[in-house]
Amino acid sequence: MLKAYKYRIYPNKEQQVLMEKHFGCVRFVYNWALALQNSYYIANGQSLSRSEIQSQLVAKKKDKDFAWLNEVNSQSLLNALLNVHTAFIHFFKGRTGHPRFKAKHYSARSYQNPQHSKVDFDKGVIDLPKLKGVKAKLSRPFEGKIKTVTVSKSATGKYYVSVLVESAQNAPIASTIEPDKTLGIDVGLIHLLNLSDGSKIDNPRFLKQARQRLKKAQRIFSRKQKDSLNRQQQRLVLARLHEKVKNQRLDLNHKLTHQLVCENQATSFAVEDLAVKNLVKNRKLARSISDAAWGQLITLLTYKSKWYGKNILTVDRFFASSKTCSHCHHHVKTLPLSVRSWRCEQCGTELDRDINASQNIRQQALADALGQSVV
Ligand SMILES: [Zn+2]
Repeated sequence: MLKAYKYRIYPNKEQQVLMEKHFGCVRFVYNWALALQNSYYIANGQSLSRSEIQSQLVAKKKDKDFAWLNEVNSQSLLNALLNVHTAFIHFFKGRTGHPRFKAKHYSARSYQNPQHSKVDFDKGVIDLPKLKGVKAKLSRPFEGKIKTVTVSKSATGKYYVSVLVESAQNAPIASTIEPDKTLGIDVGLIHLLNLSDGSKIDNPRFLKQARQRLKKAQRIFSRKQKDSLNRQQQRLVLARLHEKVKNQRLDLNHKLTHQLVCENQATSFAVEDLAVKNLVKNRKLARSISDAAWGQLITLLTYKSKWYGKNILTVDRFFASSKTCSHCHHHVKTLPLSVRSWRCEQCGTELDRDINASQNIRQQALADALGQSVV
C-alpha cells in the first residue's frame, strides 16, 4: 500500500543553493525535452521513445556548455524526461491538452528523487542524493520502503519534502456494499457537505473571512505599478494569504474525512464525479477555491476509505440530483438556485434541496453498484 508523508524541511544556505540548482536543471531538462518532442512530433507525427530521448540527454551532459547539468542528481533529470513522456501519453490519449513549458517565474518549484533517499527519525534529518543531513520536522513516523521523495519550495519560500512510502501492509479487503450503511454526500457552497442522513456540515467562518481578505489583497496587488518594489511585496503578501488558506483547508478536509471514515458507521460513501458536477455549475458560484477544495476532499475521502476497507461509489455521469424527488422520483423541470427547499407536487414530501440531492446521489450510486434500484 502506498502512502505519502509531507514534512517541512530546513535546508542550510549551502543546501538551499543546491536545491535551487535542482529546480533550475529539472525545469531546463523538462523544457528542452518538451521542445525536442514537439519538433519531432511535427516532423514525424509521433513522439520520441524514452530511450532515444534519454541517450540525447546523456550526449547533452557531455557537452562542455551544459556541464552544469552534472552538478545535480542525474535521476531527477531522468524523472523530468519521464514527466514529459507521460504528459505526451496523456495528450495522445486525449486526457489533457498539449503539454506546456514551465515558466521561470512559476511560483511553486519542485523536483523528484526516485531513489537513494533516507529518513532518520532519531536525528530529525533526511538524506537526499547530493544533499546529506537536511534538517526536517518529522511529525509523523512511517514504516516501509521509500519510493520517491519530492522536494518543493512554496511561493513564500518554505521548503518541503513529500515522501511516498510503500508499506508491507496490504490494504484491508473492502466491506460489502450495504444500502443501510451507505452515506450519500453532496458537496456544496452554502454548506460544505450535505449528507443523506440529513446532516449538514458548514463552511467554517475562517474560510469566509479569508476569502474576503484574499479579495482585498488581490485588488491592492492589481493596482500596483508593474515591476515596482511595492508590487513584489504585495505579491508576497498575497502568496502568504493563499498559503494560509490552503493549509487551513487541508487541515479541515483531513478532519472531516477522518470523521466520515473513522467515526461514521457508514461503510460506503456515494459521491458525484466532480468533473461532471462542474459542467453544470453556475459559473458565478463556482469559485475556483471551492472547486479545488472539493476535489481535495474527495481525494482524501477516497484514499482514507481504501486504508480502512470502505467503499467509494461514484456517480460518473450527469443526472438531475437536485431536481428529482428522492421519495417518488418525480422530476421537476426547473428549480432556481435560490430555492433552498420545495414540496414535491406528486407525493407532497417537503424536501431540503441539498439533502434531497445527497439522497439521490446515494440511491443512484447504489443502483449503479448493485445493478438494482434501492430506496
Ligand atoms: Zn415526490
